[in-house]
Amino acid sequence: MAPVPGAILNGLGVGLVSAVGDVLVIKQSQPLPEWKKSTKTKEEELADLKSAIEFVSSHLDELGIKAGGTSAEIFDALKMLLEDDELFEVASAHIEDGWSAAAAIGKAVDEFSELLGGDPTFDERVADFQDLSKRVQARLAGIETALSIPEKGRIVLVGEDFSPADTAQFTDAVVGVITLKGGPTSHTAIICRSKSIAAVVSCPDAAGLETGERVLVDPVGDRVLVSDDESLATKAIAFVVINAEPLIPVRANIGSLEDAKAAHETRANGVGLFRTELLYLSAKTEPSLEQQVASYTEILKASPEGPIVVRTIDAGSDKPVPFLNMPEEENPSLGVRGYRLIAEHRSFIEGQLKALEQARLASGREVWVMAPMIATAEEAKAFADLARSIGSYKVGIMVETPSIALIVEQLKGVLDFISVGTNDLSQYLFAADRMNPSLGALLNHWQPALIKSLASIASGAKAAGISSGVCGESASDPAFAVVLAGLGIESVSVSRSQVTAVHNALSSLSLADAKQIAKAVLNETTAEAAKATALREIANR
Ligand code: PEP
Ligand code: MG
Repeated sequence: MAPVPGAILNGLGVGLVSAVGDVLVIKQSQPLPEWKKSTKTKEEELADLKSAIEFVSSHLDELGIKAGGTSAEIFDALKMLLEDDELFEVASAHIEDGWSAAAAIGKAVDEFSELLGGDPTFDERVADFQDLSKRVQARLAGIETALSIPEKGRIVLVGEDFSPADTAQFTDAVVGVITLKGGPTSHTAIICRSKSIAAVVSCPDAAGLETGERVLVDPVGDRVLVSDDESLATKAIAFVVINAEPLIPVRANIGSLEDAKAAHETRANGVGLFRTELLYLSAKTEPSLEQQVASYTEILKASPEGPIVVRTIDAGSDKPVPFLNMPEEENPSLGVRGYRLIAEHRSFIEGQLKALEQARLASGREVWVMAPMIATAEEAKAFADLARSIGSYKVGIMVETPSIALIVEQLKGVLDFISVGTNDLSQYLFAADRMNPSLGALLNHWQPALIKSLASIASGAKAAGISSGVCGESASDPAFAVVLAGLGIESVSVSRSQVTAVHNALSSLSLADAKQIAKAVLNETTAEAAKATALREIANR
């Protein structure tokens, strides 16, 4: 049923910006049909293929013009690949063999990708090339893939969830995003937070909204209102800065040179999480030691002043790294990912540590290294011994599994620091797949069980003389960052767009106040009550 004017639709807010706009409902595109033998003549299939390629190609022109600069060059290069004569010949040969145009282009692109694998410039573009193949196949099947979002106006997109390819098509007119599914750590949430787009995720009642309706996206209030009155938006707490420095250091999360440069423009105190695997998501060949030294050195030099915490490769599960050739698994998030790769790929992890040591010396920066997905004290010790045998950096681990969270105190003498990955810790604590868009509510960082775990991790680390930080998305919520400081966490690392907000929040009160707030929050038994208590207690200081 369509929500009536004034109706309130509850969800999980992302960021602090609210917006009023007109709903545009985005229907998810249908899956591509399976590859089949043709039922038409070869001439008809060839003509269909030609026109579908022309269609996608002209769409690339439009995207190139819109994007401008370096992105335009990327679209030009893709267009050349798509219009390549040899590609068309290979596809034509498949049509000659009786395949449909869609199957022919799909097979031809697969073969080309295989053939060109190993060329570093091409390797970076394999996923895009495959995406083009899918777009041509969709065009042939009459499936709409472009989102066709207006360039002007104030648009609030409403959909089940949005993929990276979808979010890349958001225009400047998109002021708000509402997803029926998708949690606070979904791709949509991360993109909206970094672009300051008002967003509410995990909002099933938004299914009743219709295109053209005027809504207020109110992330601070964790809700959407069927209203055009912006003054109804819940006000974010105005943190009044009273201290020159935040209670605990605020670092930045990065995954590329571009991120490092952008973080440098903020007040971030160093980098609290450099996700190295993001450099290799489309790499088909292993980067050499020299290539790694060069890219790490450049990133270390560009990063904001302060220590730089580098995570060794966290491939697997939602982050496939092609050159590691990891086998498909039934339950990838419970499988061989993160540090568990040491069994099959020890030389790559050792190579990363060696390259980081050379980059540390070349850049003159303070480097800390940590391993992801550690589950036991033996693993923590093995990683620490390995890292210390290779370089002069502080050594730590990520705390992402309940098993290691329970024994932090026993890591005394083994580690210099721990960094809590609340995205994964929530996933494993609540047995709720972070990729499953229906389980967003369990991944809400205000869940009391997560907060209790964080309290115990902080006190365990303190007792063991190990410094503790949080680098999951939860730390990007300014009010939650205050609670973390009150629980005894000693640093946070946040999305670069949130550095200022978190910095201000942590500079607005005393440690004694933060402890009181955390104590009150620990008494609550629901996520909603925990958040409400934190906001009320903060407002009362
Ligand atoms: C986490 O799990 O919280 C984390 C920071 O790691 P990632 O999101 O890269 O898995
Ligand atoms: Mg993680």
